[in-house]
This record gives sequence, structure tokens and C-alpha cells, in this order.
Amino acid sequence: MKVLISADMEGVCGVTSWVQVTPPEYGGGPSSTVEYERARSRLTREVNAAVEGALAAGAEEVIVNDSHNGMRNLVPEELHPAVRFITGSEKELGMVQGVHVAGFGAVFFVGYHAKAGTPAAPLAHTWTGYVSDVRLDGVSTGEFGMNAVVAGHFGVPVTLVTGDDKAVAQVQALLGDAVVGVVVKEGYSTFSALHLHPQRAQALIREGAQRAVGGGFASGALDPTAASRSSSTIRRGPTAACTYQA
Ligand SMILES: [Zn+2]
Repeated sequence: MKVLISADMEGVCGVTSWVQVTPPEYGGGPSSTVEYERARSRLTREVNAAVEGALAAGAEEVIVNDSHNGMRNLVPEELHPAVRFITGSEKELGMVQGVHVAGFGAVFFVGYHAKAGTPAAPLAHTWTGYVSDVRLDGVSTGEFGMNAVVAGHFGVPVTLVTGDDKAVAQVQALLGDAVVGVVVKEGYSTFSALHLHPQRAQALIREGAQRAVGGGFASGALDPTAASRSSSTIRRGPTAACTYQA
């Protein structure tokens, strides 16, 4: 089967600041550029770890969809040579672009963060700082829930989530404990966390991805039609904590 990796950035090991995940054209200054470049390299390594695990478990192909702000964060030259990858914004299916193509058996969420308003969750938000909540069929959720519904519409289950402890817990609470979770950091606040060493995080992601390829996964607990019954709550202005897309 084929695996689609939806790669966000706030949930990457070592990340606790917008400075680290803001491409220079969106407001990063010279000092932040160095941190951003390091973080996008770590993002790429975490994606590679997931690719290695998937291939080791027998996946026939892995496609990576860059899903973070501007969606041009992966470092192409550093990606695993076996993958194809999707970059750029204005994609019909956004963070799960490509999932409509026949043959996908699993979606991985890599580098994911918690929903807006989650306490002690690094860079928690939902799409932008203007959205304080999104409900699908009455259930409060985040980007992960919206993306899971879209994937579920095409019959593809989410089988792996990596990120901070709150993000992993929220995805498993929504989709079930069968979703393999890899916690790379424990959040202390919106802007602080206790991290694994990046190499340790990548090793755990590799192992988790291996377990996440195989049978036994349903296409998610969420009813895909719930998207048509969704609602969102919009703030009147951005918060200092969250002003960035996805
Ligand atoms: Zn993001």
C-alpha cells in the first residue's frame, strides 16, 4: 500500500517558538532564519524517519505533503530518496492533499500540534490565531480532526501521529488508541517543553511508523459526513500566541 505523510512543523522535536516555524517571508528576521532553517531540517529528518519505518514495513510508496505555513518547509535535498513530495499552498485538500489518489492505505500525521486553547501545549492553535474552536458534529477538534475527516471521506485511516504529548492524546481520543502515537516532547506551556534528543525522537518515529503500516486500522472514528455539520468559533482578533496558518 501507499502512505501519505502530512507534515506539520509545530510538533517537531525542539520547537517551542513561532520564530522556529516562521518562514522568513512571513515575518522572520535575520536571527530567526537560523532557527527556522534548523527546525525545517529537523522536520525533514522526522519525516525521513517515518518514511524509513513505512518502507521497512512493506509500504510500496510514500508521498509527503508539506502541511505547514506556506507549505514549502521540507528541505528537498535532505528528503529520503524514495519519496515524492508535495509543496506549496492553495491545495484543494490542504494538509492531506493527495489522499484522494487511489491506493493509499494510511495517513501519517508528523509534527502535529494540539487544538486551539489547549493548556500546556506548545504552539497550540487551529489553522490561524483567529479560530478558537472547531466542532465536527458537536465534537471539539483541531486541524487533525478536520484532516482525519477528509482522509476518512476517501476511506484512508490515520494510523500514526507524532508531536507533543497533548497533540498525540487528542488524536488518540478522537480516532482511537489504535492510532500509533509518538511523543517527542512534553509541553509545559504554549512556549516551552521538555524534549527528547532529536535522534531519539527520530528513532521512535521510525519504530512507530513501522507499527503503523499494516492491517487492522479502521478509517477513523469520525463520520466523514460530519464535515458538513461543522462549526467554528472565530476570535475578533489574533492572539499573541497564534497568528499563523496551520
Ligand atoms: Zn503548522
